[in-house]
Amino acid sequence: MTDSSWSDASSAKPHIIILGAGPAGLAAAHVLTRNGQARVSVIERADRVGGNSGSFPVEGVICDYGSHRFHPAAEPEVLDDVKSLLGEDLLLRPRHGRIRLGGKWIHFPLKLSDALLRLPKPFALSLIGDMVLKPFRRKASGPATFSSVLYDGLGPTISENFYFPYVRKLWGLDPDKLAVTLAERRVGSGSVGKILLKMLRLMPGLRSETAGRFFYPRRGFGQISEAMKDRAAAAGAEFLFNTEITRINRDGNRITGLTIRDGETEKQLSGDLILSTIPLTGLTRLIDEPPAEVVEAARGIRFRGMILLYLVLETDRFTEFDAHYFPELSIPISRMSEPKNYAARSEPKGVTVLCAELPCDPGEKWWDMSDEELGREFTGWLNQLGLPVDVPVRGCETRRLSHAYPVYDIDYHSRFDVVDDWLLGLDGLLVFGRQGLFAHDNTHHAFAMAYGAAECIDSAGQVDRARWARYREIFATHIVED
Ligand SMILES: Cc1cc2nc3c(=O)[nH]c(=O)nc-3n(C[C@H](O)[C@H](O)[C@H](O)COP(=O)(O)OP(=O)(O)OC[C@H]3O[C@@H](n4cnc5c(N)ncnc54)[C@H](O)[C@@H]3O)c2cc1C
Repeated sequence: MTDSSWSDASSAKPHIIILGAGPAGLAAAHVLTRNGQARVSVIERADRVGGNSGSFPVEGVICDYGSHRFHPAAEPEVLDDVKSLLGEDLLLRPRHGRIRLGGKWIHFPLKLSDALLRLPKPFALSLIGDMVLKPFRRKASGPATFSSVLYDGLGPTISENFYFPYVRKLWGLDPDKLAVTLAERRVGSGSVGKILLKMLRLMPGLRSETAGRFFYPRRGFGQISEAMKDRAAAAGAEFLFNTEITRINRDGNRITGLTIRDGETEKQLSGDLILSTIPLTGLTRLIDEPPAEVVEAARGIRFRGMILLYLVLETDRFTEFDAHYFPELSIPISRMSEPKNYAARSEPKGVTVLCAELPCDPGEKWWDMSDEELGREFTGWLNQLGLPVDVPVRGCETRRLSHAYPVYDIDYHSRFDVVDDWLLGLDGLLVFGRQGLFAHDNTHHAFAMAYGAAECIDSAGQVDRARWARYREIFATHIVED
């Protein structure tokens, strides 16, 4: 084992080691080097940047890990940064999707005219009934859950036909086994009135420049991460890919260094501060001897997995839509996207890809299926949906995400608090990002967390914990855009 201390006494800048080169880690590397605030080294297990927000080619078509859009709701500082990194490569595109409800296709995001004309009549009537009867509806008794909060706010029709089957599929749990947090983080429109208001805001004359639109990079969502990595590397950040962290050393309440492995070689590293964006569960396992209750709590924290299926079709374009959403349980996938349509790409000619998102954990029946078997299943689902694949199929590729979504089950909060409190109490360590804070967030939220973290670090690499606590309160208000 070689020993290398990264603290450079000759440099006035603190040395900061970042774990994970997803959006959160990259944004931290970018902002810390841009300001000349620190020397930065980024350690990444994979051979590329971007984490779940990366991109890669499938038969020449640039694909993402499921549908990814950069949402105009991003904080102005984050949005300005992404605009300046990508310049003209950042496209503002109209959203053009469809949702399957009661056997019908409805435009998504919902449009008032479309909803009025196309919603199945019984559905529309019960929705109106829910609105009228809301003041008289008996509130659910007992402790609040995802299901009770939605039922009270939105009523039975939209809860039972849309949200409940959707969350059953996404999390593999019944809605009354899911915590309120999920409703707070995921359901921006907590009443039918708010949903209608959202639809009105999409009407010509009433809509803002970005309503019903999204930002998307010309060369795939991962171009944002690539650009951030290039900028940070040009400003001096060091990137170590294909690198495993084997241990994080602790002396009492202080993190003192870590051991990494690159191939056969192990290396001991030390810096002034570690910023961790890797899953908090894995982080806890790497740190020297956590207390028994922390180990126990971490064991109970779960992430939902996902298989992404990329079906390669020999045609220029299969549909005109960017994404199709499937809340209903009769189809196991939650969403299907056609990556070429996100940036209106016409290249490569004669081939397109459909990407299906199949929520699934290791051990479930889909997880161990071959690409060929999953490809056959996928074409079967498309048939069932009335979208028969009548063009030659070149093949199917898959990617498996072990950490797609945090699972906010009914007891997660108490377990998360035990782990989070312990990690918060360790000097020399700061944890953030989707995987670090178990946050069901968007990429722009991960960026905002990184920028907040950088603001809390002083010239010696010390963290202003009171300021960080205030940022954490802000992060807790982040609401996911779909
Ligand atoms: C299906 C799906 C669709 C989504 N759609 C959107 C969307 O439309 N818009 C949007 O803004 N967001 C979307 N998101 C969310 C977005 O992907 C995340 O917010 C973002 O990737 C979070 O960034 P992060 O850096 O916090 O985590 P991650 O992207 O998960 O990155 C974590 C990094 O840590 C690395 N790592 C993990 N363990 C270790 C280890 N032990 N050692 C070293 N490195 C390690 C991983 O390899 C990875 O690179 C979507 C997510 C999913 C799953």
